[in-house]
Amino acid sequence: MKFRAAGAGSDGIRITMESALTARDRVGVQDFVLLENFTSEAAFIENLRKRFKENLIYTYIGSVLVSVNPYKELEIYSKQHMERYRGVSFYEVSPHLYAIADNSYRSLRMERKDQCILISGESGAGKTEATKKILQYYAVTCPASQQVETVKDRLLQSNPVLEAFGNAKTLRNDNSSRFGKYMDVQFDYRGAPVGGHILNYLLEKSRVVHQNHGERNFHIFYQLLEGGEEDLLRRLGLEKSPQQYHYLVKGQCARVSSINDKNDWKIVRRALTIISFNDSEVEDLLSIVASVLHLGNVQFAADEQGNAQVTTENQIKYLARLLAVEGSVLRDSLIHKKIIAKGEELISPLNLEQAAYARDALAKAIYGRTFSWLVNKVNKSLAYKEGEFPGWRSTTVLGLLDIYGFEVFQHNSFEQFCINYCNEKLQQLFIELTLKSEQEEYESEGIAWEPVQYFNNKIICDLVEEKFKGIISILDEECLRPGDATDTTFLEKLEETVKNHPHFLTHKLADQKTRKSLGREEFRLLHYAGEVTYSVAGFLDKNNDLLFRNLKETMCNSENPIINQCFDRTELTDKKRPETAATQFKNSLSKLMEILMSKEPSYIRCIKPNDAKQADRFDEVLIRHQVKYLGLMENLRVRRAGFAYRRKYEVFLQRYKSLCPETWPTWDGRPHDGVAVLVKHLGYKPEEYKMGRTKIFIRFPKTLFATEDALEVRKQSLATKMQATWRGFYRRKKFLHMKHSAITIQSWWRGTLGRRKAAKKKRAVETIRRFIKGFIYRNYPRCPENEYFLDYIRFSFLMNLKRNLPKNVLDKSWPTPPPSLCEASQLLRQLCMQNMVWSYCKRISPEWKQQLEQKVIASEIFKGKKDNYPQSVPRLFINTRLGNEEINAKVLQALENEAIKYAVPVIKYDRKGYKARARQLLLTQNAVVIVEESKIKQRIDYANLTGRCCASE
Ligand code: ADP
Ligand code: MG
Repeated sequence: MKFRAAGAGSDGIRITMESALTARDRVGVQDFVLLENFTSEAAFIENLRKRFKENLIYTYIGSVLVSVNPYKELEIYSKQHMERYRGVSFYEVSPHLYAIADNSYRSLRMERKDQCILISGESGAGKTEATKKILQYYAVTCPASQQVETVKDRLLQSNPVLEAFGNAKTLRNDNSSRFGKYMDVQFDYRGAPVGGHILNYLLEKSRVVHQNHGERNFHIFYQLLEGGEEDLLRRLGLEKSPQQYHYLVKGQCARVSSINDKNDWKIVRRALTIISFNDSEVEDLLSIVASVLHLGNVQFAADEQGNAQVTTENQIKYLARLLAVEGSVLRDSLIHKKIIAKGEELISPLNLEQAAYARDALAKAIYGRTFSWLVNKVNKSLAYKEGEFPGWRSTTVLGLLDIYGFEVFQHNSFEQFCINYCNEKLQQLFIELTLKSEQEEYESEGIAWEPVQYFNNKIICDLVEEKFKGIISILDEECLRPGDATDTTFLEKLEETVKNHPHFLTHKLADQKTRKSLGREEFRLLHYAGEVTYSVAGFLDKNNDLLFRNLKETMCNSENPIINQCFDRTELTDKKRPETAATQFKNSLSKLMEILMSKEPSYIRCIKPNDAKQADRFDEVLIRHQVKYLGLMENLRVRRAGFAYRRKYEVFLQRYKSLCPETWPTWDGRPHDGVAVLVKHLGYKPEEYKMGRTKIFIRFPKTLFATEDALEVRKQSLATKMQATWRGFYRRKKFLHMKHSAITIQSWWRGTLGRRKAAKKKRAVETIRRFIKGFIYRNYPRCPENEYFLDYIRFSFLMNLKRNLPKNVLDKSWPTPPPSLCEASQLLRQLCMQNMVWSYCKRISPEWKQQLEQKVIASEIFKGKKDNYPQSVPRLFINTRLGNEEINAKVLQALENEAIKYAVPVIKYDRKGYKARARQLLLTQNAVVIVEESKIKQRIDYANLTGRCCASE
């Protein structure tokens, strides 16, 4: 389920607590006031069970938060979760610790009224964890500054230190707080935490010297032994093993799998520094811790007279050093008792039992007082330094009470008596305050208050605390009176004084049937939460809490600064008896009640789901018991006595306005009137609801559920309608959107094309214009008017020339140049011709060259001198006109030694008749030869030639 708020102050749809109503079958209701059958314990527990199964550990009773310990890590404490609850109204988000924390914080800021959050529940129910989570919430979500960071750190770090000294493993809880704690956090005007103060209540000192089976002493002892550096342990004279120390092995479980002492030591050691302990203070503190361990190992033996003697000198030596006292004095004071009788000081030796008692009393006193000193020291480090505005109380405080819940064991002693008395007082406060706030709300809303029947436990409180007649008074009297007062005489006195009290019972006073369940040493109190039977054994001793005078004296002489502050010399001279433990407790409780009464309270009621510290186990018997003694049914009854549900008109109207045509979709008038119209339309009967000043009050959950169901139906039909409308609307919207897109693209493209065309036209016009102008000015020297034209002409001539260059030397064509290029054209033409000639010459073969050379010679000889010369020019010269094969072999033989250079067929005309006869004319190396077939007819050596004549062939 998700109940995410739409953000503080937003007008968006708020998913309020009511949205959980729709899912109510699956995970029950998140506020018990919405349980139809609110008087049924079974229905109550079933709702818790259902939600627990779904890991929904938080449920409200109105503004009270019920929390069930999950015994496993849930993903609901992240920073995102914190943010989700920040500044969001209580009902907008699912129930959570953070909602309570944030609500208190906001009241504190807005109304500037001190707040307190009371966390109760039995041991192991999750009180301490809840307190820590709330502190973390503030540390993360509150405004910060450098100085505030330090305070936040100190507030957070005070926890591990106080837990080390004040928590222990018990059968119920591996980290059980053995003291009550009330912590004030101070906030400045900006809402930043600037200081804090802790009050501690009744540390269970008896644990120092004794633990029940399966339990441990306070964590610090084991942490020191496990984690302390060798050097440190050596200085303290300690060995690493807890088994060596009598005070640590009483419960026979020094090691616990769920506890990492070594690691915890590191955390505590760091925390001590953060809460401003310097090294020597740490050493002093640890010396005391070590001294308690040594004290536990002090042993006695009886001499012949039965007087105790110390047999463990070594321990005394360590003790003397650690406590900075004289060894012999300490030894003596452990085995002697100093009494003042008839004004004289008398020293009497102790027997074995008394000596052991004295030793344990000293150990308890040292540890108990050191614990109180520690709380004081923490307080000094947390104290708000008013700095800038001395005297001006600018802060408000928020208190967190993490105090022991009701304890009912097999054997209940003085401690349980005190603890249960404390719870009785808290219950009284709780009833008074919740009733009061209910009543006040009714009054402020102008609704008649209908008296609620509830059990007022004042009668039990009185039984315990009334002057002269109360149990504490009687106990004190027995402790103080001279003579042999014992636990038994105390019980007799009790029986005498309160025998008629309806909540008190002893063996003697009980009827036959009940008597069997009561021992002779026991008395029974009928607490509001149930019966508890207390054994009187040890009541007197524990109440007296006496330390022999000489031991006190010895401690007053200690030079350990902490011990020195813990044991004040004035105690020795003060004739008045110190207050008894019970009276001290009573007084501190009464002060606590005053503190709490002056603040606006919020409540967290913690429940433990099983005794095995296991996840996902819901032990119904155990839970029913807690529901009963936490008074949750009573709480629900009070809350439901009048009206199950109330909401501001605005909120109610906003949620349900769709159920009435007049208020939907908007109501313009006052919300009050809108709601009146709305509920009338819904058919609420007059006895089902009341209209207050700002809120509507609905008596039965079923009325609300019916409205909620109607809303669900309405939402569905609205949703269907809206879907259809939306679909049509959506399609049309999509179509319009696409059409629009198409038009946009089209027009854009057209525009682009148009612009391109126009630009082209413009360029063309300009070109033409320039051209014409250029033409007009073409014969002027180069000037702006004609330069384009001239360049163009030049360019186009050159381009034309490039295309039409002459192909060979004989090609005489050449484009006509413009006037401005005549000279260049001429030069180019020459260049071109040279180039052609040169490349022609380069291409010419040697044979061709020879031909040409011969042609040149021929030209020189014949040109203009021979008629048919021009016709012969194109005909190539050849080497010979007759091949050797055409010449007769005989002739060739005859000319054996002479190479024929040239041979040609010729015709001889006879002198007479001019008959043509075929002959061959051969030109050899040396002579001209005329051949007729195979005969050489004539031979003329060149030497004999005298000239040449031009003759035809
Ligand atoms: P109490 O102070 O009431 O005696 P604690 O607060 O010490 O009990 O809780 C006992 C143990 O239960 C814790 O050590 C832790 O293991 C477990 N526990 C308590 N609250 C929660 C929680 N909200 N989520 C997970 N575990 C929890
Ligand atoms: Mg605790």
